Amino acid sequence: MASEMFRKELASVKPYVPGKPIEDVKREYGLDTVQKLASNENPLGPSPLAIEAMQGELEHLNLYPDPGCVALREALAAELSLASSQLVAGNGGEHLLNMVAMAFVGPGDEAVMSAPSFDVYAQSVGLMGGRPVQVPLKDHRHDLDAYLERIGPRTKVVYLCNPNNPTGSISPRAEVERFVSRLSEDIILLIDEAYYEYARARPDYPSGLEILKNRGSTLVLRTFSKIAGIAGIRVGYLAGSREIISELGKVKGTFYVNRLAQAAAVGALKDRAHIEKTVALNAECLGMMTAWFKSEGLKYVDSSANFIFVDTGKDSMRLFEELMRLGFIVRPGALWGYTTWLRVSTGTVEQTKDFLAALGGLL
Ligand SMILES: *Cc1c(COP(=O)(O)O)cnc(C)c1O
Repeated sequence: MASEMFRKELASVKPYVPGKPIEDVKREYGLDTVQKLASNENPLGPSPLAIEAMQGELEHLNLYPDPGCVALREALAAELSLASSQLVAGNGGEHLLNMVAMAFVGPGDEAVMSAPSFDVYAQSVGLMGGRPVQVPLKDHRHDLDAYLERIGPRTKVVYLCNPNNPTGSISPRAEVERFVSRLSEDIILLIDEAYYEYARARPDYPSGLEILKNRGSTLVLRTFSKIAGIAGIRVGYLAGSREIISELGKVKGTFYVNRLAQAAAVGALKDRAHIEKTVALNAECLGMMTAWFKSEGLKYVDSSANFIFVDTGKDSMRLFEELMRLGFIVRPGALWGYTTWLRVSTGTVEQTKDFLAALGGLL
């Protein structure tokens, strides 16, 4: 098969490197139990109200899902004090990011983002023939002044991952407001709040929805994958102006959010208890990790998410392998050019304790 058969944009797209699945690690290393602290999943499991809602939906799977996701959008509208016409649901945040690139980025267009940040931004832009303009982090944070310098006449979208993945850092309100006041209204500002519930308690965490109120060409992305513990069913949403959300409907595809996902998301939205438990557990485990890192003299980035970025001082690929042999899957910083760093998700208290003991043994 000749490689020219493919669209030339495919050549520029780096395949996503996913966290290693638990089953693969068990098989390869002959382990009975493996702790996955690599993909920022919820260690408490799915929201019980989401499970209940999905169970009720099972017997209706002969029917196509509602392409308008009306029940979910109305529940979200009530929760977020928006109109349901300002919301579009998607098959996970990844699908929503692809929709944004499809709607705004054409061949030769540019999109500004941090490096490292969530990999899907660059991929989705590249797939459309656009050019990802990657701005290095400064002190592990978005360098918004540098963003402004890199914005040009072809810039269509600016990505602000807040908190940022893989560093867990936030851009504080004052910095974001200053940035927004200097950003042309002709450019889409995509604020990725995949970790919103974990970060919201920070007094200096800026709300994307507040920014959207005063700036129409803003989109706020959130997902049920992390906080609600339903990464496996794939559902998230974008909030934006009516006009933009309506246009995004054209690139959404028809039946992308399946019946179980729609039901699960409605259930999860009501599940305050699960959200609170998840946030509290995360704070406890981040506390355990940072206390231990401090006692060991390891550098880390202050996290507002459910993972933490830490400099072990050791080769991250080797440490990743050694941890896997002990039954812990993490993300090596080498994936993003940070050769001595690891990104580790918080787990249960026991998983976190065991992980720290294993890491201590290796260091
Ligand atoms: C996990 C994540 C998402 C979206 O995840 P989905 O499972 O596709 O909904 C989006 N942005 C960031 C920064 C993430 O970490």
